[in-house]
Amino acid sequence: MSSPAPVVLVFLDPAFPDGRLADASRPQLMVTDQGATRGDGIFETMLAVGGSVRKLQAHLDRLGGSAEALDLAIPGQDAWRRAIATGIATHRDQHPAPTAGEDELVVKLVATRGVEGAASPTAWVQVSAAGAAGRRQRETGLDVIFLDRGYDSDVAERAPWLLLGAKTLSYAVNMAALRHARKQGADDVIFLSSDGRVLEGPTSTVLLAHVEKSDDGSTVKRLITPQLDSGILPGTSQGALFTAAKAAGWELGYGPLEPQDLLDADAVWLISSVRLLAPVNRIDGKDIGTPALRKELTAELTGLYAGIE
Ligand code: PLP
Repeated sequence: MSSPAPVVLVFLDPAFPDGRLADASRPQLMVTDQGATRGDGIFETMLAVGGSVRKLQAHLDRLGGSAEALDLAIPGQDAWRRAIATGIATHRDQHPAPTAGEDELVVKLVATRGVEGAASPTAWVQVSAAGAAGRRQRETGLDVIFLDRGYDSDVAERAPWLLLGAKTLSYAVNMAALRHARKQGADDVIFLSSDGRVLEGPTSTVLLAHVEKSDDGSTVKRLITPQLDSGILPGTSQGALFTAAKAAGWELGYGPLEPQDLLDADAVWLISSVRLLAPVNRIDGKDIGTPALRKELTAELTGLYAGIE
């Protein structure tokens, strides 16, 4: 087995305004930390290219939203920004990327409820090199299966304690769904609600595109994603891509979507901050659109996404 990529670890600590560097190869967390014992905490995963985090403000805002949903008093955005800067600078210094094209870092922000009775949460930033797996999936595309998530599409509003729109540390279910897919020979999953709506991937947002000729002969391109209030995590990548696509003349739409809408689309993607836009080749064994159009649309949207700060 290959050894894991080195991790640079920075704790948010009021005594260290730029964050406190710690040795990620040594024990750092109390075993009684509620992040470890209950998955009671939140996180964000972001991509830094050439040392700069993409969509940083959107990630910090979503971290704040997740903290609010969990009644967690996390450090302010300035403290996170400083610790992130320390982590990225240290990683680039200690482990320079072999080539400029590989200068991609995964930056993870974590805040847990801390040990039982703690006055403040445990919060840290971890930085590591982005692996090749994401890059590969962007190029080769994905085989995906639909899986039932077991909740209806109204449950988020009815039962906010399920924390469906928050990015919590309780990702064991999402990881189990991915393992289930891999046992079936698939790469990834699209969750459906119990009332048959398309939701999201375990670590990604679902997008679909339709390309049509309008009456005047011009081409209309439409980009659609499931509606955000259906118990899914609002994706920062989807949000940024929608803004860029709109500026480039695409029409935008928000569900509700059913499985057949994806099967009938000209292209479907799973999008997230590190893997970026990964085209879906097949869902439940059925081909989506045509390879040529899928490739053309993926290249166009990837180009638009590359322009996002
Ligand atoms: N939905 C879920 C459940 C996720 O875990 C993620 C990211 O990890 C996303 C959507 C995509 O979010 P983003 O584009 O902000 O990375």
